[in-house]
Amino acid sequence: MHNWQFPPEYEQRSLELLEKALNSIPGYRSWRAFDPGPAYPVDRRYAAMPALKKKDIREHTPQGFVPFDRDTQAGLASGEINLVKTSGTTDVSVTNIWYQPWWDTAERASWKLNAYADKLATGSHPEAILSNPMNVGIISDEIDLPMEKRWLARFLYLNEKSDPLTWSPAFMDRMAQELDSFQPVLLEANPSLLAKLCRYLTTTGQKVYQPGLIVFTYEYPTLLQIKQIQKVFRCPLASSYGSTETGYVFMQCEAGKFHQNVESCRVDFQPLKKEHGGPDIGRILVTTFNNPWYYMLRFDVGDLVHLDSEGKCACGRSTGIILSAVEGRTLSATLTCEGKLVTLRQTDTALSALDGIDEYRLEQTGSRAYALYLVSSRTDRKRLEAEAAAALKNLYGNEARLTFYYEKALAPETSGKYCHARARFPINIEDYLQ
Ligand SMILES: [Zn+2]
Repeated sequence: MHNWQFPPEYEQRSLELLEKALNSIPGYRSWRAFDPGPAYPVDRRYAAMPALKKKDIREHTPQGFVPFDRDTQAGLASGEINLVKTSGTTDVSVTNIWYQPWWDTAERASWKLNAYADKLATGSHPEAILSNPMNVGIISDEIDLPMEKRWLARFLYLNEKSDPLTWSPAFMDRMAQELDSFQPVLLEANPSLLAKLCRYLTTTGQKVYQPGLIVFTYEYPTLLQIKQIQKVFRCPLASSYGSTETGYVFMQCEAGKFHQNVESCRVDFQPLKKEHGGPDIGRILVTTFNNPWYYMLRFDVGDLVHLDSEGKCACGRSTGIILSAVEGRTLSATLTCEGKLVTLRQTDTALSALDGIDEYRLEQTGSRAYALYLVSSRTDRKRLEAEAAAALKNLYGNEARLTFYYEKALAPETSGKYCHARARFPINIEDYLQ
């Protein structure tokens, strides 16, 4: 049993949020029926509540999560808040209420959880962003935008193309040249896009400007991508974990573990059943602090995490939940031949160990059937397949039927993010929770 330490105000904030949500926010009205009441400890009351899903936000519209004493129309009219739609197909896309001061406060609090970010991120530091413009930035698929059109305040957006498969060598040369001239203190990157740039820079033997820190956002960074990035960048890497709905939830410290951003959010952990990786692997539900406009309680971010079994970290930070790893999206979970849940991190550990592959995606097509899509310049395909088969059978079972496909490059999902593993049949994660 983990004995996490929280700051003294954590419980009080949790309690105030819960009572405000139950009493004055339309989206939580139906939750009152689950509340055991104020006589019970706050953790018990939270545990009795459902999880908030994207479909709940769609059903109530984001205005359903604004307290009665706030006027959404007036806030939108004055520009204090905005509506922000996340990209993707209708079942993953959602419109949220965006309050910039809340986001900035959460981001600044997260920097304290990494010594490099704490030292380098002053709030006025130059920052380059290599993202899919569908997630953040400016989309321009037809024409290339000059640097000044992508340079907003202290941010330089290195990519304006929604489809990274359209990147030409000249376009990637431009990114390297702009890193050299802009000299960002921080490079915030979508790991799949940075890995793609790094594969190109490695092939062409180019040296590039080294920022003080690279922060991964938007996506799970695979071990394969990290290897490719470290061939080009020698600076420290850190993963920042969060979402549009929840802000900055966990930050990877300089020692490699993930610390909860306790100033900005409450995290409730729901372990998987023992036979599926619990009790240390499980789902997290996030409750946001300090946002007077938009109340997210027990929001299901759709990811699995791994609690740190020691419950402490070499960096010395001891407040909040500590994770040894993020395990990846629940949508990227697959099943062994015997039906045991496999997280993306477990799949990635097996596949990233293969030599000479640029990209992979594993799709489970049946209970014992798996299709592996590979991008590789290796010509000894029989040997590559034997190595991949050994790695996958070790994880999924000897009865696994494997099919291999070779691609020139893999494309992101309609959301702009890459998917490295998935089952082509629904897996309801709630069936796997304790
Ligand atoms: Zn640490």
